[in-house]
Amino acid sequence: MSDRYDLTIIGGGPAGYLAAERAGEAGLSVALFEKRALGGVCLNEGCIPTKTFLNSAKIYSHALHGEAYGVKADGISLDHAAVLARKNKVVAKLVAGVAYKMKQNKVNVIEAEGKIEGRADGGIAVTGGGVTVVSERLIIAAGSKPVVPSIPGVVGGMEEGYVYTSREVLDIDHVPNHLAIVGGGVIGLEMADYFATAGAQVTVVEMLGKIAGPFDAEISKILQKSLEAKGVRFLLNAKVTEVRKNGVTAEADGAVEIPCDATLLCIGRRPAPEDLGLEKLNVLVENGAVATGRHMQTNVAGVYAVGDINGKFMLAHTAYREAEVAVNHILGKADEMDYSAIPSVIYTQPEAAYVGETEESAAAKGLEITVKKLPMAYAGRYVAENERGDGICKLLIDEGAGRIVGAAIIGGYASEIILSAGILADLKIPKESAKRIVFPHPTVGEIIREALFA
Ligand SMILES: Cc1cc2nc3c(=O)[nH]c(=O)nc-3n(C[C@H](O)[C@H](O)[C@H](O)COP(=O)(O)OP(=O)(O)OC[C@H]3O[C@@H](n4cnc5c(N)ncnc54)[C@H](O)[C@@H]3O)c2cc1C
Repeated sequence: MSDRYDLTIIGGGPAGYLAAERAGEAGLSVALFEKRALGGVCLNEGCIPTKTFLNSAKIYSHALHGEAYGVKADGISLDHAAVLARKNKVVAKLVAGVAYKMKQNKVNVIEAEGKIEGRADGGIAVTGGGVTVVSERLIIAAGSKPVVPSIPGVVGGMEEGYVYTSREVLDIDHVPNHLAIVGGGVIGLEMADYFATAGAQVTVVEMLGKIAGPFDAEISKILQKSLEAKGVRFLLNAKVTEVRKNGVTAEADGAVEIPCDATLLCIGRRPAPEDLGLEKLNVLVENGAVATGRHMQTNVAGVYAVGDINGKFMLAHTAYREAEVAVNHILGKADEMDYSAIPSVIYTQPEAAYVGETEESAAAKGLEITVKKLPMAYAGRYVAENERGDGICKLLIDEGAGRIVGAAIIGGYASEIILSAGILADLKIPKESAKRIVFPHPTVGEIIREALFA
């Protein structure tokens, strides 16, 4: 016996739950399979938990360094157990919010692993939790997994509990004395900031010659310096070759021994297309990710793949937009995915963010751009709020097209400010029109206006 729906969704993370919400709002009947927890990685073990940790670190750090601002306090400490308890409270609240939205939109949430069975009764059959659901449309939103490197000692260390991925470390009940972080990308750097502020000695080992992956090289350097000032040690151009309970070995110009009592793996994430039954429909998987077109369709009519599972831009806000594009395609509404202005943020203190092209990517594409670069100190509010900040803002202008094609910022509120540059790039607003936009004063975001006139 099977239940019929207009749409089946596998996965209840940002991609899946937003698709369910939009489809439900439009009047489609929706069944959504979720095998762990609604909210997916983002709410339960990603974006939100890390940001609650980092907010506590920020408040603590402000209190510690308050004297420069005329604020004196004694006996300040960061209570990791309380940080963890608050994180769990925030997560529970947001997950409940998603559950409420599912209910509001009459989405049938099936708390089970969904598996594609193939074509049946004129639709696609998915089973899980003892139910079979048949629908004409299927959205695959099964997300991603942390990459676990095949370094000697990693598997044993994970079993014994001194090697973590981002999932387990967000539930750790103590601050390690010395934490070795393998990988200096976004997640590794956010974790380095929190644990260093919380009192751990932190060493980040990065294979490349710079931290923060595709971020602007100059901004990566400023961020590295800021984290070093908090005590984080970086070992660049180095590869971890062995992990033990009391240390890791890295290969740089020779072997380097890093004593530590915990190791965190942050070398990236990969889509998780296995075990879904994709072969039953012959859905194309390329380089480990479900292949999609500009409407988020796979090679099979009626089957879509949104969010991390397609491996394109593995961020929650991309997942949201892709979900909308897929649902709009199902509803017959004109829409398509554009990846040219997706912002990326590192929520360390200071924050770093970029959108669109970087100087490096523009050079690689042979684009002729002008870079307008200013210290963040050109924004009055930034100076009022930062005693020692050395942030910068860069706007990348395509002079031929007469518009912004990229921006990169390091400094207070970069995560919020990048949106205004993103809007200018996304909507292809001419530079001269952008100059007529009135920004509120004093805001740190005025730096965008300043840079336009620089
Ligand atoms: C530590 C960390 C910090 C991050 N910080 C940020 C950030 O600040 N900003 C940002 O934009 N992104 C961030 N990300 C990335 C972000 O979490 C992901 O891009 C986002 O969660 C992807 O959403 P998704 O719905 O595609 O996948 P997921 O969130 O992975 O959700 C997929 C869901 O599908 C379920 N599922 C899988 N297979 C099945 C099945 N067969 N049946 C039923 N259910 C299934 C899973 O249980 C999961 O709940 C972070 C990630 C991590 C790990």
